[in-house]
Amino acid sequence: MKAVAVRPGRRNSVHLTELPMPRLDEIPGGRGVLVKVLRIGVDATDREINEALYGNPPPGDDFLVLGHESFGRVEEVGPAVTHVRPGDYVTCTVRRPGNSIFDRIGRSDITSEEIYYERGINLLHGFLTEYYVDDCQFVVRMPVGLKHLHVLAEPMSCAAKAVQQAYEAQRRLQVWEPKLAFVTGAGQIGLLSTLILRLRGLDVYTIARTPKPCRKAEIAEGFGARYVSTRETSLAELVRRVGKPDLIIEATGSSAVAFEAMEIIGHNGAVVWTSITGGQRSIEFPADKVNLNWVLGNKLLVGSVNANYRHFEMGIADLALGEMTFPGVIEKILTNPVDGLENYDEMMRLLMEEQALKVFVNVSD
Ligand code: BGC
Ligand code: ZN
Repeated sequence: MKAVAVRPGRRNSVHLTELPMPRLDEIPGGRGVLVKVLRIGVDATDREINEALYGNPPPGDDFLVLGHESFGRVEEVGPAVTHVRPGDYVTCTVRRPGNSIFDRIGRSDITSEEIYYERGINLLHGFLTEYYVDDCQFVVRMPVGLKHLHVLAEPMSCAAKAVQQAYEAQRRLQVWEPKLAFVTGAGQIGLLSTLILRLRGLDVYTIARTPKPCRKAEIAEGFGARYVSTRETSLAELVRRVGKPDLIIEATGSSAVAFEAMEIIGHNGAVVWTSITGGQRSIEFPADKVNLNWVLGNKLLVGSVNANYRHFEMGIADLALGEMTFPGVIEKILTNPVDGLENYDEMMRLLMEEQALKVFVNVSD
């Protein structure tokens, strides 16, 4: 079967390759699920892997099959599988457990080991192929009524975790009722975080570079948030106008903005960093000022990566609620389909375009 792969460490090495068909009995204990791939989303992580800034092949291989945002249909299940059946629509978690205590309790998303295993990203092949098998504990059912949102389940799981991490961590304060949130970045994580916070009733400002009118603004406003372009209004100016936020979800992909967020968060507030920045950038930073205000304001910075099975469930529940609350808005994120695995060049080209909000490959129907 066909697959799209890169040679990690070599720039622009994306290519089509052949893999053997996966077999159900590769998974022990009758827990295998064989999935026919329908669509795969790609994001900035795939772009950075192809730019040789990030990612590693599985041990013994010199190539890495891309693809971690999956949507497919179950073909066959082993005898021990109960929660999905042939014909079900499914997505799949990305990270696989290592050996830390967190990995052993189903929390590989917070593994304490520095080596992590992620399908399509690090040390494990991904889903950008025709079929895959995996252990049923990583296969998540997608409600049939959400099949038009397909590849958004994975990015939504990361947004769901990011927001939940803030709420979990803020229990340190005994009472925390955030009212004003900034979301920096209006890529998929920024927009999906906007949705989640709006569903929780917060006043949300979604902040990105592109000036209005633009699709990002249309989507953020469709969720009832306010969209601000930094070309027109700086973060500092926005704070002067509306006050300091209680919560910032940072998802621009820029470390400079991640640090800028630390300068504007309110007392007792939380900043969540979600950007994966594979580059080597340095910045100048008002360290004394931020350090002082950080301490005087009991402020919190949390990093959040990946998502486990429960975060996928939370994310999918919020996609369903979001669809009921803001009908037809979420699917506007799905901007750029590419037909067929053979069109991997077009897929990579679209990933460079700032206006391509979500690039995904139609692998099969
Ligand atoms: C993926 C996450 C992953 C992270 C770091 C993101 O693009 O969606 O699942 O943990 O990259 O590799
Ligand atoms: Zn991703």
